[in-house]
Amino acid sequence: MRFSGLRVLREGLSGNKGWQAQWRDAEPGDAYDVVIIGGGGHGLSTAYYLAREHGITNVAVLEKGYLGGGNVGRNTTIVRANYFLPGNSEFYSHSLKLWEGLEADLNYNVMHSQRGQIGLFHSDAQRDAAIRRGNAIRNQGDDAELLDVPQLKKILPYLDYEQARFPIHGGILQRRAGTARHDAVAWGYARGASDRGVDLIQNCEVTGIDIEGGRVTGVQTSRGAIRAKKVAVIVAGRSSQVAAMAGMRLPIESHVLQAFVTEGLKPVVDHVVSFGMGHFYISQSDKGGLVFGGDLDMYASYAARGNLPLVEHVMEAGMALMPMIGKAKVLRSWGGIMDMTPDGSPIIDHSGIGGLYLNCGWCYGGFKAVPGSGFSMAHLVATDRHHGPAARFRLDRFRTGRGLMDEEGTGSQHSLH
Ligand SMILES: Cc1cc2nc3c(=O)[nH]c(=O)nc-3n(C[C@H](O)[C@H](O)[C@H](O)COP(=O)(O)OP(=O)(O)OC[C@H]3O[C@@H](n4cnc5c(N)ncnc54)[C@H](O)[C@@H]3O)c2cc1C
Repeated sequence: MRFSGLRVLREGLSGNKGWQAQWRDAEPGDAYDVVIIGGGGHGLSTAYYLAREHGITNVAVLEKGYLGGGNVGRNTTIVRANYFLPGNSEFYSHSLKLWEGLEADLNYNVMHSQRGQIGLFHSDAQRDAAIRRGNAIRNQGDDAELLDVPQLKKILPYLDYEQARFPIHGGILQRRAGTARHDAVAWGYARGASDRGVDLIQNCEVTGIDIEGGRVTGVQTSRGAIRAKKVAVIVAGRSSQVAAMAGMRLPIESHVLQAFVTEGLKPVVDHVVSFGMGHFYISQSDKGGLVFGGDLDMYASYAARGNLPLVEHVMEAGMALMPMIGKAKVLRSWGGIMDMTPDGSPIIDHSGIGGLYLNCGWCYGGFKAVPGSGFSMAHLVATDRHHGPAARFRLDRFRTGRGLMDEEGTGSQHSLH
C-alpha cells in the first residue's frame, strides 16, 4: 500500500476503510539466512537495508516485546551531524544524508523536521572549542554557523541572557539538524522491511545463542529454536546480557536516561537548543509539548524508569537556561536503557565468533544514527566487510586503546567529570 495525497483524499471520502496493516505480524520460521535480535530502530533499519541494498530477504527480526517499544520510541528525537572526531563525523554525516531522503525512500511520513539545532557556549574556552568543532563539521561537508549574542537574542528571545553564573556567550547552529517522529521511524522501516519479505516477529525473546565449532548456528527463543547462518545482536541497553549468551563480555554499561514532556503550548521553541553548562536539551513537538532531557541517572540499571534526583537536576538546568519553562506543567516523564561505551562512541563489528555481529554502544546518540547504522550494519552482515563511514567502530579499540573516539575527553558519562 502506497501513501499519497490522493490516497488520503480517497480514504477520507470513503470512510477510511481501505487502510491496511503496516506490516505482516509473522510467525517464526525454522531457519533464516540472517536473524536480527532486537526490533528497535537499528534492528529494523538493518533488516530494511539488507533487503533493499543487498537483496537478502530471508531475514527474521526477533523482538521480545513489541516493535519500537524500546529506546527508539523513548528518545527526545534529536537528529544532527555535528560530531568532531574522525570516525564519528563521517558516520553521522552519512546518516543525516540518509535522513534527508528517508521519507521518499520509505514512502512514509517520519515527520523529519530540519528546524536547526543550536549548541550554546558560556565561556571563551567553550567558544574556542565550538569554533574548532564547527570547522571540523564544515571540513566534513556539513553545515555549522557561529552565532553571537545579538543574533541569538533574535532567534531565541526566551533564554536568560542576564544569568550571571552561566552567561551565554554565543552558539553554534546547524540548520540541517532537527527532529523526527521517533516511533514513525520504527514503523516506516518495519513496513519497508516487511514489504520486502522480512519476517518481523514480536513477543519472541532470544534466550540463547547456539555456537558450534566457533560459528553461530542459530538462537533459542521463547517461541522455540531458530536456525540461522548469521546472527546480528542489535539490542541497545540489553547488549551485555545478550552478548553474554555467546560467552562475550562487552565494554558496555547500561544506564537509564530520562525524558520529559510538558502540556501543549503555543509555538515558542522553534529549534533544538542545547545548554552548554549542563546536560539539558529541548525542542517543541508538533503537538506543542516541550520535549527535554538531561543527564543519565547516576548508577547503572535496567529499569526503564528514572529516579527523582535526576528529575530535579534536569528541571534546575532548564530553569537556569530559560526561566519561562517554570510555568509549563510537566505531563509525562519516562526512561530508556542506554548502552554506554567507555569512549561514548558505538560498535559495529564482527564479534570474533563466525557469523555473529554486534551493533551497540549508541549511548545518548543512537536515534540520529538509525539510518546510517542500519546501512553500515547491513553492509557488514552481507559482505563481511566494514562499511566506509562506520569503519572505525571497532570492538578491539577497547582492548588495544588504539582508535578510541572520545568526543569531549570525558568519556560517555560527562556527569562524572
Ligand atoms: C530518554 C532518551 C532520550 C534520547 N534522546 C536521543 C536523541 O535526542 N537523539 C538521539 O540520537 N538519540 C537519543 N537517544 C538514544 C537512542 O534512543 C538510542 O541510542 C537508540 O534508540 C538505541 O537503538 P535502538 O533504537 O535499536 O534501541 P531499542 O529501541 O531499545 O531496540 C532494542 C530492542 O531489542 C529488544 N531486545 C532486547 N533484548 C532482547 C532479546 N533477548 N530478545 C529479543 N529482543 C530483545 C528490546 O526489546 C528493544 O526493542 C535517547 C534515548 C533515551 C532513552
